[in-house]
Amino acid sequence: MIETVFSKIIAREIPADIVYESDELLAFHDINPQAPIHILVITKQPIPTLNDLQDQHAQLAGQMLLAARQIAADLGFAASGYRVLINCNQDGGQDVWHLHLHILAGRRMGWPPG
Ligand code: AMP
Repeated sequence: MIETVFSKIIAREIPADIVYESDELLAFHDINPQAPIHILVITKQPIPTLNDLQDQHAQLAGQMLLAARQIAADLGFAASGYRVLINCNQDGGQDVWHLHLHILAGRRMGWPPG
């Protein structure tokens, strides 16, 4: 398993401001937020990128979206809205090689993204 900052958060070796946890997922506030609310939903399985998702991960992928919906409801920004995104590899802007979904909320998002 490739050790990343996220595998250390899963192992509780470094702290994180956790907002959601299930058997398969962990979600916590991003340390360098790009919006007033910026939460990461990570898999507990060490899947490096979206390219590495397999058919067997279909349920896990669905759980990531359902977790985003749940977090938006729990933290009170479901109605005002939010953006969910996954960065993949260099052109996608990925820095941490452990699959994660970003939830951005609390301000109006521009489109197209920069
Ligand atoms: P990405 O560029 O999609 O790989 O996103 C990685 C994200 O992880 C960035 O938004 C970072 O700010 C965030 N990040 C890195 N280290 C930590 C940490 N220790 N706790 C919370 N978020 C982190």
